[in-house]
Amino acid sequence: MNQHLQQLIDLSHVDKDIDAFEPQIEEANLKLETVLAKKETKENHIAQLEVEIADESAKKQKNEMHIAELSAKLEDNSKKGSSVKTEREMKSLQLEEEIAKEQLSFANEEIVRLDKIIDSKSEQSVSEKALLDEIDASIAAIKSDVDAKIQIIDKDRQVVFIKKQELISKMNQKGLAFYQKIRRWAKNTTAVEVKHQACMGCFMAINDKVYSEVIKGEEITTCPHCGRILYMPTQEEQSA
Ligand SMILES: [Zn+2]
Repeated sequence: MNQHLQQLIDLSHVDKDIDAFEPQIEEANLKLETVLAKKETKENHIAQLEVEIADESAKKQKNEMHIAELSAKLEDNSKKGSSVKTEREMKSLQLEEEIAKEQLSFANEEIVRLDKIIDSKSEQSVSEKALLDEIDASIAAIKSDVDAKIQIIDKDRQVVFIKKQELISKMNQKGLAFYQKIRRWAKNTTAVEVKHQACMGCFMAINDKVYSEVIKGEEITTCPHCGRILYMPTQEEQSA
């Protein structure tokens, strides 16, 4: 086979091998990304609970202030009570007292209700924080696992990179530029096999003349339909 053609085929295989590392790295990172997303969700939920607890506590404080005001008012009224002169004054004072007592009991009920909400949200927050601690612990383990996997992938990838460098150093610039121009759009199908007299890049049948050129392999032949570099698979590739 033409040496330049062989180099182009080899280069396309090496490039394909290099690209194949990407999904491996992505897969390794996916587990970490999943658990990091889980952590973020938990943190957001905890922050949300804290905001809600603060809101309910503020409401509770308002009620407590109201109770203090009402108590002061009731105390004041009882002092006034000893110095009322007319029945009208007394009735008005009694009415005020009734309203204040009603408001007081409502404020106390509110506090009981708010306390229940605050307790329940605090409990939720505590259990979410415990789960967050568990996630944090698993992140450390997953991270070291992912790092180890990526280290192995990088080592393998380095071997392929060196192979590519060696191959490129032997190739002429013209052939390389020709290859890169096709690879820009054809990616990992820059050099493709011919099977059943068809290009395995665009799957169009090629005519007898081009087919016989590909079989000879004496020069670099491109597909007349799509422009990819064509070659005949070896016996080994055919059986695979
Ligand atoms: Zn084609």
